[in-house]
Amino acid sequence: MKKIKKILAIIMCTCLLFSMVGCSKTENNVGLGYTAGTYTGVSKNGKNGPVKVEIKFSKDKIDSVKVTEHKETKGLTDSAIERIPSEVVENQSLNIDAISGATITCDAILEAVADCVKQANGDVEALKAKKVDKNVSNEVVEKRADVVIIGGGATGMSAAISSAQSGAESVIVLEKASSIGGNAIVSGGYFEYISAPDELRPENTEGYTQVIENILAIEPVDEVHADMQKELKKQYDEYLASGSTKVFDSTYLAALDYLQLESYSTPESMFGFATLLDDTANWLTEMGMTWKPLTGIVGYTWPRWSSPLEGYEGHGYFDLFNKTIEKNNYPVEIMTETPGKELIVEDGKVVGVVAKDSKGTEYRIRANKGVVIATGGFSANMEMVKKYNTMWESIEDVTATTNVGTMTGDGIVMAEKVGAQLALMDDIMLFPMADPFTSTTENIVGDDGDALFVNKEGKRFVNETLDRYTLSAAVLEQPDKMHYLISDNTNSLIKDGHTFNGYDVEEMIEGKQLFRADTLEDLAKQIGIDPEVFVATITKYNESAKNFKDEEFGRISFSKNSTIDEAPYYALPRVVARHITGGGLVRDDQYRVLNEKNEPIEGLYAGGEVTAGMSGISSFGDGMYIGKILFEK
Ligand SMILES: Cc1cc2nc3c(=O)[nH]c(=O)nc-3n(C[C@H](O)[C@H](O)[C@H](O)COP(=O)(O)OP(=O)(O)OC[C@H]3O[C@@H](n4cnc5c(N)ncnc54)[C@H](O)[C@@H]3O)c2cc1C
Repeated sequence: MKKIKKILAIIMCTCLLFSMVGCSKTENNVGLGYTAGTYTGVSKNGKNGPVKVEIKFSKDKIDSVKVTEHKETKGLTDSAIERIPSEVVENQSLNIDAISGATITCDAILEAVADCVKQANGDVEALKAKKVDKNVSNEVVEKRADVVIIGGGATGMSAAISSAQSGAESVIVLEKASSIGGNAIVSGGYFEYISAPDELRPENTEGYTQVIENILAIEPVDEVHADMQKELKKQYDEYLASGSTKVFDSTYLAALDYLQLESYSTPESMFGFATLLDDTANWLTEMGMTWKPLTGIVGYTWPRWSSPLEGYEGHGYFDLFNKTIEKNNYPVEIMTETPGKELIVEDGKVVGVVAKDSKGTEYRIRANKGVVIATGGFSANMEMVKKYNTMWESIEDVTATTNVGTMTGDGIVMAEKVGAQLALMDDIMLFPMADPFTSTTENIVGDDGDALFVNKEGKRFVNETLDRYTLSAAVLEQPDKMHYLISDNTNSLIKDGHTFNGYDVEEMIEGKQLFRADTLEDLAKQIGIDPEVFVATITKYNESAKNFKDEEFGRISFSKNSTIDEAPYYALPRVVARHITGGGLVRDDQYRVLNEKNEPIEGLYAGGEVTAGMSGISSFGDGMYIGKILFEK
């Protein structure tokens, strides 16, 4: 009898054990069972670096999740930092949908959470598999506005403000990401401020004088070109007579300067572009924009680039736009996480847009005056880049992109479906100076408009002031398709332990994103280069910079700070990344999208990087003009 009791007890215990194991596998209780306590977890990389979280566990649940450290982009990833932790707690799950435009950040947060779960002896795989009630909506909402703008980046937000300023009574901006800004908000914010006041201009140098003389000496391609050169000469003579020591600039110089860079442009179109830049800078300044001193940037070395003095880089513009809308009570409704999906066409005319929010609600929005496509480029869409690329031999190797995740070419696809004409689609601009770990362009140490590039063999390989296509092609031919940007105490632009854009130098050094040494020999050793070769390269480069004469690569643009001769010395590893797409919708001078027969598609407008031949935050100008064209009488 005793024996039977014992066997029964064993059977019961075994059943209990099986049912407990089964319990941890049932849907509602997956992953339950932790070693209670507070844990810190860290991800490998978000967009700009690792994300750290702190989690409190009791023995059967996740009590709280908090992101304690991150370097993710302010604004664009705010909702990810806020929402993902609370959704993990609410659903007791790691099966959480990413937020559009912040996918990498969401993944990093979930990775850091998983790290904590593992430490607390939880079941990561079960939490990842746990189904979450997504609350899907089947609602359809009808709306109407004077203008519907698809995309709330540079073009979209300036079109919204300009429309309101010009008399629009209702403006709807559809934005795919969880906040406005697009690539423009993560950009360095560098805008070509041609008529900047003298106090923002650097001193003139022999190198700059030489550039102007070269532009004036070019054989003109047509009469317009010749007239522009004449006008520039007149302006330049006046400038010389004025005795100014500040660097010269004008719309004629900008137009002729860019004419050399853009193979498909004409002198007339470049003059139009330079005028747009000038009008836009004035419009922004009138709105209240204050500007930093002018500088050159990589690929565009004339010092005419400024960025917001207030607000962080590209953010400065959107801070100003938000303030302007609020202060003037402009009738602008911004619908975030609500991507435009298709255009509504009636009798051959575009009359509205269908959009869908993250809960599944469909919006059918009709536009009285027009629909504006402002969805930017498609560098974040590798499949689309591969589809159109004929420019680069091995685009598959360029896995990094500087873009935010929503830049997937949606506007091009939508417009193509209603018969829009596309052009320049194979114009894929790569950026030759992205961070190898995070793809960011913003943690530059050194002056990217006045740089020295050295490859893994310790040698220079290109005129660093050439355009980005040439520079990227040159980098892709170097060992490991990478290079180092070399700088010193005077041109590293480091201040108070931080880079020009505010990155912590010690953290970068710790993460091997930057190398620093008191001697050139030591710097060479740290990056695995033969010190003798490296020192010889720097010595030769310094000679070229001092004499404004670079016999090896023909560079003439050097500044007073170009030489590398004052410790500490820095080496910043850089790679090539997909950056800007030059192709897109064809439009006329009224910003109307054209069909294959070069006829306007009624009701459809477009501006910015989604259009053929336009890119950069000069797209603010497209938006500004679109608002005026649509609403000014
Ligand atoms: C890292 C980086 C640095 C840069 N630095 C500079 C710089 O210093 N100076 C410069 O001139 N240029 C710079 N650029 C380029 C510049 O940012 C872009 O060319 C410019 O922002 C293009 O403006 P846009 O309005 O066409 O697109 P964006 O400003 O990118 O805006 C497009 C918007 O459309 C949204 N969108 C996309 N699809 C949909 C959809 N289906 N529905 C609704 N919304 C949608 C996107 O989320 C985004 O908000 C930089 C780019 C990057 C990536």
